[in-house]
Amino acid sequence: MEEQNYWFEIIKINDHLIAIREKLSEVDPRFLTEHTNLFLLIGASSALLIDTGCGLFPIKPTIDSLIGDKKLIVINTHVHWDHVGGNHEFNEVHIHEREAGLITRPLNLSFLKDSSKKIVHRYEKFSFSIPPSPVIKFIKEGDRFDLGDLKIKVLFTPGHSIGSISLFTNKGELFTGDTAHFGAYFLPRKKDFPIIVSSLLKLIKIQYNNDLNFIYPSHEQFPSDISLLTHLRDGILNIERLWKIRKKNSFLNSWVINGDKFQFIVSMV
Ligand SMILES: [Zn+2]
Ligand SMILES: [Zn+2]
Repeated sequence: MEEQNYWFEIIKINDHLIAIREKLSEVDPRFLTEHTNLFLLIGASSALLIDTGCGLFPIKPTIDSLIGDKKLIVINTHVHWDHVGGNHEFNEVHIHEREAGLITRPLNLSFLKDSSKKIVHRYEKFSFSIPPSPVIKFIKEGDRFDLGDLKIKVLFTPGHSIGSISLFTNKGELFTGDTAHFGAYFLPRKKDFPIIVSSLLKLIKIQYNNDLNFIYPSHEQFPSDISLLTHLRDGILNIERLWKIRKKNSFLNSWVINGDKFQFIVSMV
């Protein structure tokens, strides 16, 4: 039994979608997050992997065993470490052009050295610096990927990070990355809230057009009810009112605010 088999939890959602779940709290609980979700879409002619995880265990053998001979397209929803750690295992990775500068550099994970979880020692083989993928391709709003019967459209949804994207399939499935999920939700500085709110409005518009069936976020539970989008928008708009109950989190360099449906982590920098 390969060691990665116990690390990745494989959840078959339907005949064309598989979730691959990692327990982020077992890597470093200071991120206040339980799970990271990677998603694998399998079409008639090719497959598409959404994010490559935290890089603690090799992800490619697991993907290969799930897709057989099909061609694979790899997309990062954004540049954060828990989504791009396995990039170096793939010959080519797609990411939004605004995160180009960051994704072509080695991924510095030295902040994990003092995690309370001993499993982070696995990163020592990379000296806590994971190389990037050899080829990076850039994507933007409106780009499309055709997997045969399954078509995927790129939506530019900045806010959580400057180049965050979401992906929408012709079967009404929306993959929101870190743009929308329940649990500990990482926000930019307060002055940048309008950026994330307008990205959420863009996704809510899809919902109003009745095209949206399921939301698959990159953290915590999935699928999420489509009301996630409006709850999240309302929660962010309410932060000003909760601002006095914020607590400082030095490790995350952020303010933490416990709302009723979300724990908001608001960047100080
Ligand atoms: Zn993120
Ligand atoms: Zn994340």
